[in-house]
Amino acid sequence: MGKNNIEHTDTEQPECTEQTGATVPNYHFQTQSIHGGVTPDPTTGAILTPIYQTTTYVQEAVGCDKGYTYTRSGNPTVAVLEKKLAILEGVEHPAACFSTGMAAISALFLACLQAGDHIICSQVVYGGTVRLLDQVLNRFGISVSYVDTADLNAIKQAIAPNTRMIFVETPANPTLILTDLKAVAQIAKQSGLLFAVDNTFLTAALQRPFELGADVVMYSTTKYIDGHNATVGGALLAQDADLIEKIRFIQNSVGFSQSAFEAWLTLQGIKTLPLRIKQHGDNALTVAQFLQSDPRVKRVCYPGLESFPQFELAQRQHSGHGGMLTFELIGDISAGTKLMNRVKLCALAENLGAVETLITHPASMTHGPIPAQQREKIGISDGLVRLSVGLEDPQDIINDLDQALNQCAPSIG
Ligand code: PLP
Repeated sequence: MGKNNIEHTDTEQPECTEQTGATVPNYHFQTQSIHGGVTPDPTTGAILTPIYQTTTYVQEAVGCDKGYTYTRSGNPTVAVLEKKLAILEGVEHPAACFSTGMAAISALFLACLQAGDHIICSQVVYGGTVRLLDQVLNRFGISVSYVDTADLNAIKQAIAPNTRMIFVETPANPTLILTDLKAVAQIAKQSGLLFAVDNTFLTAALQRPFELGADVVMYSTTKYIDGHNATVGGALLAQDADLIEKIRFIQNSVGFSQSAFEAWLTLQGIKTLPLRIKQHGDNALTVAQFLQSDPRVKRVCYPGLESFPQFELAQRQHSGHGGMLTFELIGDISAGTKLMNRVKLCALAENLGAVETLITHPASMTHGPIPAQQREKIGISDGLVRLSVGLEDPQDIINDLDQALNQCAPSIG
């Protein structure tokens, strides 16, 4: 392996060393996002990991495979992404990658919970997580308490004898409320609970849950990790070897695996993750400052603004604040809807974390599965607008919002 098959006639034949796949562990994050886990293809030297578009793998003899048998159980392209994610997160065991973020969350719950178990979940989370817990897993005897996980006492009070896990999303989708990861990790440890963090909004580039005590980190790679609106995918990472084994068992048993092509596209996107997410953050702050200074806007929420209620925690827990912000307009709730119908550059769409700026109405789109009364209680008002600030010139995003504001709230300002 690794030797090329060109015939050399002179005596000095080049020594081709075998690629071991080992990475230098102290490369910086930016370097690892490009090189981590990737080695040139040993057969051809191709610098990009090939797309192993195959169902099965021929075995040399019974019981003698090369580490792969059937693509539901493992695929070499997906394995490279799994290795890279582990390097970026700073854990030993490769991630388990999934067909979607929801498949990753489902695998986590199926691997760690059984009938009769209870979990504590942040009261503000992606609507699909609530749908999974309230309309699917409840039928299998798993119960949930939705708790304001910014309130440590509320978490402690919600712990019951059958509680097994605390699942938090921080910053939370869409209100951006933060959970103090270090403090919650301590509570989880004291009570013998598994602590899982959905790190989709910031990624390992800006927030390091394992270093703050988390047991599991979860991603919708669909968002910033891919970053180009090109794929849907998910990932789970764990420090503990048995836990990641249990997760892999569910991945294979249920068939939640990621496809080689999705992994390949994600491997291209992830190379620029640190650069993109920094620029997303710079753009989001510029747009948030514009919105905050505009009299037609009632309220802006962005963790990088000093007016953000948990600004101190954001400074302590993040090394940047990402591209997500929310705002509400002066006037009745239809003002936000009108704005979303009048933007031209910003696209009205359900995804987030990609190069294109996307504008979303959480109440009717991403958080539709949460009952209206509950939505209102946790701050997802019908007038709330979510903006995933992209990588366009921020002045163009501001100009677009301004022209839309002029059309829907002309009497103010
Ligand atoms: N977690 C968060 C924070 C999300 O925003 C989403 C989707 O929007 C998910 C999980 C689910 O991911 P996917 O859409 O890839 O299934």
